[in-house]
Amino acid sequence: MSHFWSSLTHELRPYVPGEQPHMAELVKLNTNESPLGPSPRALEAIRGEATETLRLYPDPQATALRAALATYHHVGSEQVFVGNGSDEVLAHTFAALLKHDAPLLFPDITYSFYPVYCRLFGIAYEAVPLDHAMQIRVTDYRRPAGALILPNPNAPTGVALSRAEIATLLEQHPDAPVVIDEAYVDFGAETAIPLVASHANLLVVQTMSKSRALAGLRVGYAIGDADLIEALTRVKDSFNSYPLGRPAQAGAIAALEDEAWFQQSRARVIEGRERLNRGLVRLGFDVLPSSANFVFARHPAHGGAALAAALRQRAVVVRHFPAPRISDYLRITVGTDGQIDRLLSALSDILRGKPAPA
Ligand SMILES: *Cc1c(COP(=O)(O)O)cnc(C)c1O
Repeated sequence: MSHFWSSLTHELRPYVPGEQPHMAELVKLNTNESPLGPSPRALEAIRGEATETLRLYPDPQATALRAALATYHHVGSEQVFVGNGSDEVLAHTFAALLKHDAPLLFPDITYSFYPVYCRLFGIAYEAVPLDHAMQIRVTDYRRPAGALILPNPNAPTGVALSRAEIATLLEQHPDAPVVIDEAYVDFGAETAIPLVASHANLLVVQTMSKSRALAGLRVGYAIGDADLIEALTRVKDSFNSYPLGRPAQAGAIAALEDEAWFQQSRARVIEGRERLNRGLVRLGFDVLPSSANFVFARHPAHGGAALAAALRQRAVVVRHFPAPRISDYLRITVGTDGQIDRLLSALSDILRGKPAPA
């Protein structure tokens, strides 16, 4: 607290990202990073940009990357916006499209960055409760709204809506922007991108951080009607004209070109998720049906905070949210087979009351 701060700064409640601890032999399953490396072709393209040309500013419109994304997703370049991670794309989206007289709607259990942006930009919102099965019920969104945003699959539950359900939401709110945050869509959900052609109010946000294993490169993007994209560009060019550096633009293009790597890597994550799922069920956990690269699970006899702390003593880090309705759950990222085995054996020891190694 300082009297140098603006009143806005005093009001902020910043997002708390999952920690990046430095521990020996750590099994890090807390921030939904990919257990597999990025495409070797992406790495080569990034290295290729580590040259003297770095003295020059990058293309402020990221024209080549936007064209590559447009081709990949069968839309026009004017329907594509790119940013420094999808968090930045989301921030610009909140500023450009989500502030209206009527409240913004999003689920009560969802990506915890959304209320943070609402405070930053002074946006009134209403949190719509998930149902008893921790699922989004689209009929609950049939109420006055200035705009809607939801992740699909939802975070941190991992539960997905079908494309038909997204279409229902769009038809319930033809005059309000509807933003679908598809950070995890490649792990088993249906993308809403095909609905962009018929719905001028739909914006779909995706990222290279999860399914393309490039969280460290910071590349996210949005696809929607050219009018929505123009709004995002206006905000971006009022904030930072050069959000993506040369290595990020080149690396992202190369990652998109390596379809074989992408398909193989997401298939391996999906297989890992099913193995993790079975292992947790065997240990007595309730596991929500996940279409993401993580699972959300609770044990009927053990609290989430205690389990997370006991895992940490065994150098296994998972995400726990000390929030209403979800404090008994753990969000566990799908790791390599070896990491999944370490997690399951640590949980098995904890449930049997075996003391942690000193
Ligand atoms: C990880 C995540 C993001 C942000 O990803 P970036 O790394 O900023 O692209 C956005 N939305 C959800 C729901 C996420 O889980």
